[in-house]
Amino acid sequence: MPSFINPEKCDGCKAQDKTACQYVCPNDLMVLDKATNKAYNQEPDLCWECYSCVKICPTQAIDVRGYADFVPLGGSVTPLRGTDSIMWTVQFRNGKIKRFKFPTRTKPEGAIQPFADMPEPTPEGLKAQELAGEPKWLMIEKMARLEDKG
Ligand code: SF4
Ligand code: SF4
Repeated sequence: MPSFINPEKCDGCKAQDKTACQYVCPNDLMVLDKATNKAYNQEPDLCWECYSCVKICPTQAIDVRGYADFVPLGGSVTPLRGTDSIMWTVQFRNGKIKRFKFPTRTKPEGAIQPFADMPEPTPEGLKAQELAGEPKWLMIEKMARLEDKG
């Protein structure tokens, strides 16, 4: 079941250049109707039901009706993103609601320095066969090369 947008909740991401759902959709399905300032899925048949737009929408305007095998008719699964966690609200057919909260990060935003221990890049590095940091991440001294075999 493809994504759909509740026009009463969508605020067009306050007329920014690109809306959050446009930015995140891997299939470029979301478009903003400039006349109404509401977004919509322009090609529902191509929706992957990946939930990316559902998770990123700041006004909770997007929903994806899950497949009946894991969300039986009448049920719903709704994510609510926080800064360090995501809460999934699962509503069952009988009206019962369960919530599951999962952490999405273990370090504060911006705290990770991925290149902290990496040497400064050099022009010679562009000609190297290995990727940056490859020996380190493979935990070997250096990459094997044909020319090293003598
Ligand atoms: Fe509307 Fe949400 Fe898309 Fe923003 S992300 S344009 S609020 S549906
Ligand atoms: Fe795009 Fe995924 Fe949203 Fe479908 S569910 S519109 S593929 S972001």
